Amino acid sequence: MNIILLGPPGAGKGTQAKQIQDRYGIAQIATGDMLRAEVAAGTEIGRRAKSIMESGGLVPDEIIISMLGNRISQPDCARGFLLDGFPRTVPQAEALDKLLAEQGLKLDAVIALKVDDAALVDRISGRYTCATCGAPYHDTAKRPKVPGVCDECGSTEFIRRPDDNRETVMARLEAYYRQTAPIIPHYSAQGRFYEVDGMANIGEVTGQVEAILDRINNRSA
Ligand code: ADP
Ligand code: ADP
Ligand code: ZN
Repeated sequence: MNIILLGPPGAGKGTQAKQIQDRYGIAQIATGDMLRAEVAAGTEIGRRAKSIMESGGLVPDEIIISMLGNRISQPDCARGFLLDGFPRTVPQAEALDKLLAEQGLKLDAVIALKVDDAALVDRISGRYTCATCGAPYHDTAKRPKVPGVCDECGSTEFIRRPDDNRETVMARLEAYYRQTAPIIPHYSAQGRFYEVDGMANIGEVTGQVEAILDRINNRSA
């Protein structure tokens, strides 16, 4: 199964992607995580991306498209993949169509999480992750069961992203509405577009997403 999880920054894509990845055994591909790894490793891509990411803009299409093309040909994508944070522009969506066609693959679903702007700002300003395993948390909406200890791996170290601040959030939201939202008609025209109420709590959103994917899975089984 090949899926796109779409939605503005902070909508809950990463949080839901982890659940989907475990349930359906498909690879999660988050271009934001890949870029942060390039920045941490100090690569050429990382050097080009760092200041753009800090200002809340989008990294140039040609960098992202070549990174993504390499990633989906890795062996762990053979059973399918879940794209989180890609595509983010119309040229990226077109490049993905081409990549999939070349490899004889198709998209099964594009699932959009719909969340109000005010909630997005709150989610992003309260977001932090486990420094060891990347599990996502939130200051009020998702705290570890034991304070200060990651539920998944027991680590006691957590990190906040440098771009998760109120000023950068506005630029990221603007980039989403101006550059990313225009890909929605591209996918609704292909007939595989689904919208989910992302304002519900984490478990309810997971339930809505799984209901869509279970239907698709049964149809293709
Ligand atoms: P994205 O990957 O779309 O940027 P995340 O999955 O990182 O979003 O979620 C952003 C923040 O909001 C995280 O701190 C996460 O714990 C929290 N969050 C995710 N889904 C929900 C939800 N349905 N309700 C409340 N908070 C949520
Ligand atoms: P979020 O879901 O919270 O918006 P991501 O982790 O997906 O954050 O992305 C962080 C940053 O990485 C973006 O603000 C952007 O600068 C860059 N980025 C990630 N994916 C892409 C992409 N597909 N195209 C261009 N820039 C990207
Ligand atoms: Zn952890």
